Amino acid sequence: MFDTILIANRGEIACRVIRTARRLGIRTVAVFSDADADALHVTMADEAYRIGPAPARESYLRGEAILEVAARSGAQAIHPGYGFLSENAEFAEACAAAGVAFIGPPTGAIRAMGSKSAAKAIMEKAAVPLVPGYHGENQEPEFLRREAERIGFPVLIKASAGGGGKGMRAVREGAEFPDALASARREARASFGDDRVLLEKYLTKPRHVEIQVFADTHGNAVHLFERDCSIQRRHQKVLEEAPAPGMKPALREKMGVAAVAAARAIGYVGAGTVEFLLDEDGSFYFMEMNTRLQVEHPVTEMITGQDLVEWQLLVAAGSPLPLGQKELAIGGHAIEARIYAEDPARDFLPSIGRLAHLRTPVEGANVRIDTGVGEGGEVSIYYDPMIAKLIVWDTDRAGALRRLRQALADYQVVGVTTNIGFLGSVAAHPAFAAGDLDTGFIERHRADLF
Ligand code: ADP
Repeated sequence: MFDTILIANRGEIACRVIRTARRLGIRTVAVFSDADADALHVTMADEAYRIGPAPARESYLRGEAILEVAARSGAQAIHPGYGFLSENAEFAEACAAAGVAFIGPPTGAIRAMGSKSAAKAIMEKAAVPLVPGYHGENQEPEFLRREAERIGFPVLIKASAGGGGKGMRAVREGAEFPDALASARREARASFGDDRVLLEKYLTKPRHVEIQVFADTHGNAVHLFERDCSIQRRHQKVLEEAPAPGMKPALREKMGVAAVAAARAIGYVGAGTVEFLLDEDGSFYFMEMNTRLQVEHPVTEMITGQDLVEWQLLVAAGSPLPLGQKELAIGGHAIEARIYAEDPARDFLPSIGRLAHLRTPVEGANVRIDTGVGEGGEVSIYYDPMIAKLIVWDTDRAGALRRLRQALADYQVVGVTTNIGFLGSVAAHPAFAAGDLDTGFIERHRADLF
């Protein structure tokens, strides 16, 4: 095992990685920008180094500065967290060249899954089911429009390089197609510097169900069951849970097998997530694979009793997976709520400021809080305004839901506007309690939630 690791991230995920490293007796090195000099992850780490000014481009995205710190501090491995450099194949290569282990998959797997179009071509070959669509090279507008007609409206235009719901446009009919294409392209170019798109049949009432996979360097690969992330706003996750409500064991098995096949098809190593859309008729379709630890990984940890960061460290150090498929089982039910500094009444506009007062629910076996900002801490304009992830667990979904409602009611933040009240409305909604979830949930129940 490594004796020193560097965490190339900030906020809750940096703190969360440090916690596991500490428990395993591993020394931790943090990096920080000027905006984060007093941040929690800096205080928690054994050592911390400044890497630049507040904007991520000048700090957390500067691979060479981070590798310099690794050399100076004697770190043997780098955990990239999620976001920033976590899915950057050049950075992973630079780590290898510097003789530092990148705690993530091989660069080939990152590259293969970095483009949604290329990923689909690979999955098609591996016989993983895809949403009907077009993911080829031809980007000529008239051609794409004809493809859209062939697929049949409604159609979804997606940026190949996309992420975070950007560069995505649903199109109801042919006449809307040219404008929607142009606007998806503009957004994709601005966000990713790449305006290539793909087309998919737009499913009208799908669930977002994703499978956590893990593979090691010895040829073992397992899945750690599913997460339902259907509660979304503008294609971004708001609440996530495991297992998926109403999931039948036979379907879980089928999706798990498909996800492991997807991982094997690209020689995967480490933690990954295979995202599927689950249609009302029980058909499921590959959407994309995320080659990193996900924000919502704690719900999987709560139902399996495993520490996924520990698994990542073991695998990166060359150890085999701690458990085989048959040794993994689901225990109870977990739900995660993303607590954001944002104003639901103003179209979820980020709310910037100092957390003047903070009272959080009591943590224990049933309630976990992953955060990177404490009382007196600051939510700045420079980064994602997530304050914390609240994760609850109980023996069944009804129990977990009661815990969630109570914990949200106990959560007090003064100084910034938060989405806690909004999350409470979702948690209190009868349709949510009934497990009647799909990606249109928030839109459909708008009148009850705001
Ligand atoms: P991103 O990488 O930008 O997050 P994804 O491809 O993961 O984009 O899709 C994000 C969300 O968009 C999904 O969780 C789902 O809610 C919605 N979505 C994606 N593809 C489709 C589709 N073909 N039909 C309906 N909804 C979709």
